Amino acid sequence: MKNLKNALLLKHLYQLKDLGHRYTDMTIFKEDPSDLALPSTMEALKKQALNCHLCELSKSRTKVVFGEGNENADILFVGEAPGASEDAQGKPFVGKSGELLTKMIENVLNIPRSEVYIANIVKCRPPENRAPTATEAHTCRPYLFKQIELIKPKLIVTLGATVYHYLTDDTTPISQIRGVINQQPDYIVIPTFHPSYLLRNPSAKKEVFEDLKKVKSLM
Ligand code: URA
Repeated sequence: MKNLKNALLLKHLYQLKDLGHRYTDMTIFKEDPSDLALPSTMEALKKQALNCHLCELSKSRTKVVFGEGNENADILFVGEAPGASEDAQGKPFVGKSGELLTKMIENVLNIPRSEVYIANIVKCRPPENRAPTATEAHTCRPYLFKQIELIKPKLIVTLGATVYHYLTDDTTPISQIRGVINQQPDYIVIPTFHPSYLLRNPSAKKEVFEDLKKVKSLM
């Protein structure tokens, strides 16, 4: 929770600056640690995320894209950040790459999309669909970690290099790590390519097909 704590501290400082303060005494920031804990039900967590203003992305978003699906899912798919369609609808993967992700789930894993859970590293759309900055990813990541704690998936499929990196803190290039089973204490992580990469490079679909067959064999 250190990043959340730092983000809250930064927010307080910006508020004081907006009020005209130029210097402040740090001793006023002796917060109650319980204030920093995220709620422990999905409903309360979602409510908190929908009202989140911890980073710059909150200023330009239309809707917060918290995530959706089976809250007891065995498989969690994690994307990078909402795009324009997701920002408009408040749901993850509903645009072109979402259509492809849905096909991957339904035609390769042979399960309805509603049976898995789908979330993103950052819950608000970065302007012009740029990649989230490290600060944005680290500020938002606690929401995802709490979602993981509540859903307790057996397997997490990370979509694209950025997601794998922010979920595991491993910076190995995606070309080397794709499809490799990464056993974490509470779940398995399988990194694969992002559907939007597949839209630009359809020949990479066969690798993702192999990764998803691996996911199926593990379930
Ligand atoms: N790309 C993502 O990474 N996430 C979405 O929700 C949509 C597109």
